[in-house]
Amino acid sequence: MSETKENKITVDFVIEQKAKIEKLIKRAKMDLEFLRENIKNIETPIERRTESQQEEPKTIAKIELLRKALVRIEYNNYGKCRGCGEEIQTNRLKALPTTEHCTKCAK
Ligand SMILES: [Zn+2]
Repeated sequence: MSETKENKITVDFVIEQKAKIEKLIKRAKMDLEFLRENIKNIETPIERRTESQQEEPKTIAKIELLRKALVRIEYNNYGKCRGCGEEIQTNRLKALPTTEHCTKCAK
């Protein structure tokens, strides 16, 4: 039994990722609130308002991706590559918690 646990998805790893994703959602929601405040507020300089308007849909899309990752965790599907069905490397998931593709299939 010399199987290396390195880079393998464990229950603990998934729990860790879940906490990380929840934190990222919380932060993204705060960003979204801030952006919407900028958009609404007529006192905000115009460039800042335009910038916020461009950022808003990106932030919404980001929250959506994070939520989908949480759903995959719930259905025990987190970390499976949509391309080849193999486990995605944990170091890749750490860097990109919402990714659905392994390094090979992402190319
Ligand atoms: Zn793959």
